[in-house]
Amino acid sequence: MLLTIRDLTKVFPGTRALGGVDFDLAAGEVHALLGENGAGKSTLIKCLTGVYQRDRGEITLDGQPISPASTYEAQELGIGTVYQEVNLLPNLTVAENLTFGRQPARFGLVQGRKMRAEAEEMLAGYGLDGMNVGRELGTYPVAVQQIVAIARAVALSGKVLILDEPTASLDARETERLFDVVRGLRERGLGIVFVSHFLDQVFALSDRLTVLRNGEKIVTAETAGISRLDLIHHMLGHDLEEAEHRRARRRAGAEALTFTGTGRRGKVAPFDLTVREGEVIGMAGLLGSGRTETADLLFGRTPADCGAARDSEGPLPLSTPREAIAAGFGYAPEDRKTDGIIADLSVRENIILALQARRGWSRPVSRAEQKALAEEYIRRLDIRTDGPEKPVGDLSGGNQQKVVLARWLAMNPRFLILDEPTRGIDVGAHAEILKLIGEVTASGMSILLISSELDELVAASDRVIVVRDRAHVAELIGEEIETDAIVKAIAASDEADAPAPGERMREPAE
Ligand code: ADP
Ligand code: MG
Repeated sequence: MLLTIRDLTKVFPGTRALGGVDFDLAAGEVHALLGENGAGKSTLIKCLTGVYQRDRGEITLDGQPISPASTYEAQELGIGTVYQEVNLLPNLTVAENLTFGRQPARFGLVQGRKMRAEAEEMLAGYGLDGMNVGRELGTYPVAVQQIVAIARAVALSGKVLILDEPTASLDARETERLFDVVRGLRERGLGIVFVSHFLDQVFALSDRLTVLRNGEKIVTAETAGISRLDLIHHMLGHDLEEAEHRRARRRAGAEALTFTGTGRRGKVAPFDLTVREGEVIGMAGLLGSGRTETADLLFGRTPADCGAARDSEGPLPLSTPREAIAAGFGYAPEDRKTDGIIADLSVRENIILALQARRGWSRPVSRAEQKALAEEYIRRLDIRTDGPEKPVGDLSGGNQQKVVLARWLAMNPRFLILDEPTRGIDVGAHAEILKLIGEVTASGMSILLISSELDELVAASDRVIVVRDRAHVAELIGEEIETDAIVKAIAASDEADAPAPGERMREPAE
């Protein structure tokens, strides 16, 4: 093996990002690394490339143990990385980008002609013939920049090339071009790690694949020998004994909210949705399928460009989060770091934010009420903090997640959207949050639960909506809610309908 990883473990405060992962890469192989958000893909790559230091485990390259302390050191060892965002300098020329850090210099002066010749040599074989290496890199399309980044990584490193979501901003033709480059490198004997959440691309390009979930390796398999269905099963997983954890599915309550033909071009195709009192609507789908986009539309984070929402009283305007909050909606978004937590405010201040917004800033929540609410939710959610006045940034990730949840519960919404509420928190807290969902819905609150964990959906939902390719494609009710049924709906109802490997490249919506 070119590269072996054994028992790789990395723990962040409150989160075990990787727990004993094994991974192998052969020379002349494209090995896809798959998993939903938070599975541990980036952490594995960062341990490999010296960005993070591992807590435990062994990495060998060409049979020698390695422990790169920086990306520079990883590069010197032979491991190069290209990220989704081109990590080069757009204002420098192509030649400068290709040679910086190793420019031929004499008496401190870069020899322009020599540099350009070297750059042209580095680009040979990448299908960029005729490229003017004296031009600024930023003037070329992203796909070309991406290929230049690969050429640089290969020239500097030469053994292992890691591509972390390299096609995210490319269209189908550009992606094909990039794949040709990758296939060429495979023939030259490089080992390539390909991180992508587009299954079509994984089937089109990779020889083997490894699925991570919750920081653990779920499976390594030959790509040709695994079905889409099995792959999705592995990605979304199901480990719990369903029957034990399953919520007693309840009779539907009265209609609380109705969305008709709600959608937005390039985001989510128009859908109808009726929300009933006290119900948990699960939402299933793969990364990028349109789940978060649906939530954003319902909450007015991105305004819908068609459709209407109403409750029993009449139409509801929902074109901004402010209007959604006024209508009694809450939304705990997926990425709490950017959308949720205000790190330097205290736990108390973070918790009362949504309630304050709902009441309007002219009617401040009294200090006594703030304190009582903060204490109530610290207790109910078992938030580990030295007290309500502690800055939330000092808490562990899982506890920050609970603070975000507390914020929306304290507002007492009638409709609460939870996007991956249990991601990145430990198993115990997981169960507490599911229990809490049961409690609040018993008192009439309706919940939309977006989750990448099948078990969680099966355990908590009264109804499950399946999203695929940015459209709501199926709905499962009551006893129909089974992991197998959800996976089938995600994969397409009939596997024969799915495109053959490489036949169709996925077109990003708009
Ligand atoms: P992926 O790339 O598969 O989406 P990541 O490796 O980024 O997953 O994340 C794995 C887990 O580790 C997640 O729960 C994430 O929140 C956590 N994590 C990643 N990086 C950090 C960090 N620097 N500090 C704290 N937690 C982190
Ligand atoms: Mg990642």
